[in-house]
Parts: sequence; C-alpha cells; structure tokens
Amino acid sequence: MSKTLQAIRGMNDILPEQTPLWRYFEGTVAGLLDGYGYRQIRMPIVEFTDLFKRSIGEVTDIVEKEMYTFEDRNGDSLTLRPEGTAACVRAVLEHGLSGGGQVQKLWYMGPMFRHERPQKGRYRQFHQIGLEVFNLDGPDIDAELIVLTWRLWKLLGIRDAVTLELNSLGTSEARGRYREALVEFLTAHLDQIDEDSQRRLKTNPLRVLDTKHPETQAVLVNAPKLADYLDDESRVHFEGLKARLDAAGIPYVINPKLVRGLDYYSKTVFEWVTDKLGAQGTVCAGGRYDGLVEQMGGKPTPGVGFAMGIERLILLLETLEQVPESISRQVDVYLCAFGEQAELAGLTLAERLRDEVPGLRLMVNAGAGSFKSQFKKADKSGALHALILGDDELAQQVLGFKPLRGQGEQQNIAWSALADHLATCVVQG
Ligand code: ATP
Ligand code: MG
Repeated sequence: MSKTLQAIRGMNDILPEQTPLWRYFEGTVAGLLDGYGYRQIRMPIVEFTDLFKRSIGEVTDIVEKEMYTFEDRNGDSLTLRPEGTAACVRAVLEHGLSGGGQVQKLWYMGPMFRHERPQKGRYRQFHQIGLEVFNLDGPDIDAELIVLTWRLWKLLGIRDAVTLELNSLGTSEARGRYREALVEFLTAHLDQIDEDSQRRLKTNPLRVLDTKHPETQAVLVNAPKLADYLDDESRVHFEGLKARLDAAGIPYVINPKLVRGLDYYSKTVFEWVTDKLGAQGTVCAGGRYDGLVEQMGGKPTPGVGFAMGIERLILLLETLEQVPESISRQVDVYLCAFGEQAELAGLTLAERLRDEVPGLRLMVNAGAGSFKSQFKKADKSGALHALILGDDELAQQVLGFKPLRGQGEQQNIAWSALADHLATCVVQG
C-alpha cells in the first residue's frame, strides 16, 4: 500500500467546520473597511525574489531564513510572498496609483508563506489581512488605522483581551544617529552579550533591542534610548498620534523596545498583543514606512500600514468563546422528495423558491432514499425545517412543512403560498 498523502508541515487545510468562522471573520473585516472607504487590492502570491530583498531588507529574519524561494523554468528566482506590503507597493508603483500625490487606502487578504517552526499560532502558510495607505504623512491617518482596529476588536468581542503597544522609530536620519550610539555602546560591552546579538550588531543592530536573552537584556538597561534620539518632526508626529488616541479613548502602552522585524519602518510602529495565546501573542502589527516607496524606485511617498494574522485572531475568538452561534447553521430548509414524479416536481419547486426567496439556504435531498433516511439527512444538515413532497402532496399541490428543531406540528402549505411562508419563518428566523 502506498504511503498516505499528507499536507506540508505548517500548511493547514481549513475544513468545512472551520470555514464559517473564517468567513464570518473575513466578512466582518471587509464590512468594516468598506465603512472607512478602503478598497481591496489583490496581488499575485509569487513575486521576484528581489522584490522582498529590496523592501524587507537582506538582513531580516524573513529574508535570511524564512522565505520559500525557488527557480522557475526560465531560471528566474521567485519567492512565495512572506508578507503583503512589498507586493502592494510594487503594484501601486507599477500601475501609477500613487502618482501626483494621490491618496490610496488599500487592503488585501490572503495566504503568506514563511519557513518557520510550526507551532500554535505560527504556521508556514498563514493568512493576513493587511492595510496600506499612501501619500498621507500626518498622525491622523496613523490614528485612523488604530481606531478602526479598535472598532474591529469590539465587533468581534475581543477588545478586553488585546493591548496596544506603541513606539516611534524616528526618521531614518534619527534612527541612523541612534544606531551609531547603540553600536558604540554594545561594542564596548561585546563580551557581555549573546552570540546572536553580536551577529545582529553587525547586520541589524536595532534588532538587538528585542533580544530574549536575559544577560543581553540586562546590558541593554543602560544602553542609549531611542526616545532620546528622536528628531523634532518625529516627536511632534508621535505626540499628535497619542493625542488622537487619548481623544478616542484608546488605551496604549509605550514600549521603547518595539522595533519590529522589518527594515522599512520609520516613526510610528505598533502591535496589538494578547496574553491569551501563549508565545504567539501579536495579533496585528504595523507602522509607518515613509522611505519604502522611494527605496523601491518610486518618488518619495509616505506610507503607513499594518497586517493582522487571521489564524491568531480565529484562535482568540475560539479561546474567548466569541464565536457567534448563528454562523454554524448553514442550511435553513431541507427538501425531501419521495418517488420519481415528486423528485422532478421538487427540483422545479426548489429553483422557484431560490428565485422568490433571496438569501434562502435550501438543500435538496440527493440520492433518493426512504422516508427514514431522508429525514436523518435533513436533521444532520442542521436545517430548521424539512419540506416534504410525496405522491399525496404532489396531487394536492402542497408541501409538508415540518419543524426539525423544537416545537411545532407538521402542516401542509400550498405551493403558491410557500415563498411567503419561508420568507417570514426562515430567512428572518
Ligand atoms: P512574530 O513576531 O510573531 O513572528 P512578525 O513580526 O514576524 O510576527 P509580521 O510580519 O508583522 O509578523 O506579520 C503581521 C502579523 O501576521 C503578526 O502579528 C501575526 O499575527 C501574523 N503572523 C506572522 N507570522 C505568522 C506565522 N508564521 N503564522 C501565523 N501568523 C503569523
Ligand atoms: Mg516573524
């Protein structure tokens, strides 16, 4: 016997039991973003490898060790996208969407790929919903991004379980000055910091700040502080953001060590974190990237965005038991037909009902079967009601209408009255 086929480790099927929750989540976010005037963009899943090297940065975890990169048949180096911002900026530039200072408020959704160690909340194929805004440089738009996520947490019933962490990285000049000071300090303490931090010191020194190594953390207590190196412009920007969050009543924690894993951020960075999911606690993360578009070959264009991890948010909904009950029922009525004539009539009736009752979720029995077996299937479908069509009903041009859950007697309803009946008792109920 051949070996059972299996999916790739860290890449999961989303089974029919789970998809209602995914669709509820995605639908809630899409509806929310419509309400703020954001428009969806869809980019390819595969891009030239160079795109990610140039945007995310050569010495980041993602580019150094997490990308799925391969050669295609032409010998081009391609990569499964590890995140969405790079491709979104590429698309915006390629189609001239940010030209002439045009404001773009965009969102996207879909799978991302990173070769990480799979564990709860961390997968090799995972899904994000991301937002990117171009050509707005003020703190008002940074605040809007946070305000709308705050509203989302409320809609989803998870607001109490998440905390906003905030920091400012300054302009790239300010960050450059800070980087020098940090390198000087850490070089003087080289023998006291861990090996990984020593390596990062050479490649991406700011990343040393989010080390998990206790000894290095102890050394960092006396290190120069990024906040002391902030330029005036960034300071004013950050104050503006905080004032707006205060006005909106959104609590936040300033986390001076929040530097984010990607190279392209400047000024605002933020993360929404929860303590309900163990080690994988960041459910949404983003920031401002005013230099990125230029770095990718465009005109200087301010940008700000974030991405949320759908798997982690779904896990959070489940953990907090915030899965609405109504999403689990996917069938309203189940039509049972007995005998060839009844089946034929049933087919036409069902199609007529689909025309007349928008939104009706009607499953028609397939595969014939006895009274008992069709009822079993009707019950298993989760439907609220069964419609019954046999020879007698056919002769009288009625359908038996039988409640499957709770109280109520079976009654006959004339075909002509059926649509009205279903519209009141099923679609609204
Ligand atoms: P982490 O520190 O958890 O690795 P990150 O900083 O690499 O996260 P981002 O690139 O900012 O993550 O992606 C935004 C969000 O996407 C994260 O906050 C998280 O919710 C989700 N995410 C990132 N990587 C994964 C993954 N491998 N599996 C599941 N979700 C992920
Ligand atoms: Mg990561």
